[in-house]
Amino acid sequence: MRMYDDIQLDFPDVLLRPKRSTVISRSDADLTRVYSFLHSNVQVSGTGIINANMGTVGVFEIAKKMLGKNLFSCLHKHYNYEQVEEFLSSVNPEQKPSVFLSIGLRERDIDIAKRAIAYDPKVSICIDVPNGYIPPVKKLVVTLREMGYEGPLMVGNVVTGDITEDLILSGASIVKVGIGPGSACLTRRITGVGRPQLSAVIECAEAAHCVGGMVCADGGITCPGDVCKALGAGADFVMIGGYYAGASEADGEVIEKNGKKYKIFYGMSSEYAQKKFYNGMPKYRASEGRLVEVPYKGSIDDINDEILGGIRSCMGYIGARRLKDIPKFASFYRVNRQLNTVFEG
Ligand code: 5GP
Repeated sequence: MRMYDDIQLDFPDVLLRPKRSTVISRSDADLTRVYSFLHSNVQVSGTGIINANMGTVGVFEIAKKMLGKNLFSCLHKHYNYEQVEEFLSSVNPEQKPSVFLSIGLRERDIDIAKRAIAYDPKVSICIDVPNGYIPPVKKLVVTLREMGYEGPLMVGNVVTGDITEDLILSGASIVKVGIGPGSACLTRRITGVGRPQLSAVIECAEAAHCVGGMVCADGGITCPGDVCKALGAGADFVMIGGYYAGASEADGEVIEKNGKKYKIFYGMSSEYAQKKFYNGMPKYRASEGRLVEVPYKGSIDDINDEILGGIRSCMGYIGARRLKDIPKFASFYRVNRQLNTVFEG
């Protein structure tokens, strides 16, 4: 047994420190960044906020809205090849790299990836496996690159620098970071495994950047300030699931209870998702995801405007003029209490 006893931090454990700033008006803050990907000559310009590839939010309706704001999108794994192809052919060619199609390790998924690559070797792909530490993940990265795949490749999930570096050197462009921080996630409760997200992102971002790769902070966003903190920690992309789940464009009906509106949101390892997408839950598996009703929030455009406004204002406080500069200008206070909740709940 070994104990790592340095303090491990989550988003609510820190606040960004304000600094002398010349970013006076919010319009001085430039939110676009040109992303160039390792192992690929694809470039795309945008702001690195990306919807999670979950059954509710990884849908075409959300993707269209994300692209409309010059953000990124990750589609869920349960569309068939024809559906994905049809959607991608409707996207403005300059924004195509902003849409990631997701695959796991199942035969069906790998088949979809091969067909997509044969059609367009520069398509953006996300290999998404809850445990990115297992050898088949790295093997799939290597196999895709050996096949001549040249697109932006996101791979995850992990929470440590060693494996981040390994996946990037094997062919990944972006490593997805997060084990257990998700709003619909029960992994920490069921398995006792995980790492506080801010510390995971800081370590993995440093490891990735040292070898020319990038990271996507996946999970744990509860407010626009958390997105700013993830960017400050070095995340090139920030992936959001639950915080988008109440959007009208997310899959599922609006439910009314006692005059209040809700939408259903579920983890992709929940029994609900297993039943919906895979004909039930195998006996050897415990559910590592929950099913919840989240308050209805209206259009995702309003949620994204609030997030983008938050980032702009954060840049004003810390003095960063360009999105890419945020980590350089970020310093954190460790705090005991980040919010005044006197009027909440
Ligand atoms: P959120 O933004 O909701 O906090 O986190 C979204 C992330 O949670 C997803 O991108 C994915 O990595 C993770 N996630 C989604 N469903 C499940 C699940 O059922 N179990 C676990 N452990 N994680 C999940």
